[in-house]
Amino acid sequence: MAKIVCVLYDDPVDGRPKTYARDGLPVLERYPDGQTMPSPQGIDFTPGELLGSVSGALGLRHYLEDQGHTLVVTSDKEGPDSVLDQELADAEIVISQPFWPAYLTAERIAKAPNLKLAITAGIGSDHVDLQAAIEHGITVAEVTYCNSISVAEHVVMMILSLVRNYLPAHQWVLDNGWNIADCVSRAYDLEGMHVGTVAAGRIGLAVLRRLKPFDVHLHYTDKQRLPAEVESELGLTFHPSARDMVPRCDVVTINAPLHPETENLFDDDLLATMKRGAYLVNTARGKIADRDAVVRALRSGQLAGYAGDVWFPQPAPPSHPWRTMPHHGMTPHVSGSTLSAQARYAAGTREILECWFDGRPIRDEYLIVQGGQLAGAGAHSYTAGR
Ligand code: NDP
Repeated sequence: MAKIVCVLYDDPVDGRPKTYARDGLPVLERYPDGQTMPSPQGIDFTPGELLGSVSGALGLRHYLEDQGHTLVVTSDKEGPDSVLDQELADAEIVISQPFWPAYLTAERIAKAPNLKLAITAGIGSDHVDLQAAIEHGITVAEVTYCNSISVAEHVVMMILSLVRNYLPAHQWVLDNGWNIADCVSRAYDLEGMHVGTVAAGRIGLAVLRRLKPFDVHLHYTDKQRLPAEVESELGLTFHPSARDMVPRCDVVTINAPLHPETENLFDDDLLATMKRGAYLVNTARGKIADRDAVVRALRSGQLAGYAGDVWFPQPAPPSHPWRTMPHHGMTPHVSGSTLSAQARYAAGTREILECWFDGRPIRDEYLIVQGGQLAGAGAHSYTAGR
């Protein structure tokens, strides 16, 4: 029987919700590219419940414990005395989420001789040292597509809130003001602007599709070009690199995975090539943008706004400068953890576990590392090495 350590974010401050704002979730048949939804043999939760925090346990407790496995669920993940570190010693499976990442560093992996499977209940397995997983024969899997549309919606929301100066205007209402001029002196229309995405994968393409009706000029860069009919349908301009694209854009959104090619991509040099007063929205990974360079660009006016929900480290310490920099619209890492997304990533995690315990192959689109090499979706989007 296996020990499974599941690292999840804390429950709400007032405890587990007793009621929810809505009575259910829309039923989706398929993802936009035709990929089938997570399809475990069963689920022990009601879609629409809070599953991603400790008390929700991703809806896995009955399934795992009924089979005799040991399930440890904790939010305590920092430092050598953390529950995660102590339980890792004999864990076979670690489940974690990008929102509250259990950083599986090479040091931690070296101290976990039984570890065979690391599951990301979400998308983005950069919190796992993939090179160490390759070297130790650990399988890494994630629930591809589960929250891509959730993030795309968040990106569109953030672009509009920055360009239209929504959050400061809302703050004037909370402060009992009616300060029209204060609100509008930084407010613009998105219409007619040039908007570009770094990467046009599941999220990036969904952002482009959602922005098309706003009558903007759409740009993208990616390692591979989209089909010509998609470029023509959306009126896309392709650029061979971010460096070629960003000087042309009023708004840039980052939708690439964090790996050696993208780490620190938005540094002082690249930011300086952007139009003065451009907006940058990063819901991909905090480390793709240089933390202090972003602060400098906002202070100088080179960037008119920055928003996103990804930080490094996570949770961000109270002193993290992105909490207090000017003209930002940051949220904690929430875009991919709506109640809608939770139902999908909980079901996808269960599907991966069922495959693992039944000795059936995990779907290729969920695989990041297997058999000592990048595999499936991982072979496509990540690069090996540190
Ligand atoms: P996809 O794998 O569908 O798309 C990623 C795209 O990035 C691929 O088209 C890939 O290219 C491209 N890419 C990789 N490296 C580069 C590069 N150096 N320059 C340009 N493009 C590059 O993933 P998703 O769209 O679903 O997710 C993207 C990322 O968003 C995730 O890796 C994760 O980090 C983040 N994310 C954030 C969430 C949140 O809650 N904030 C939730 C979900 C994801 P190609 O395939 O052609 O090689």
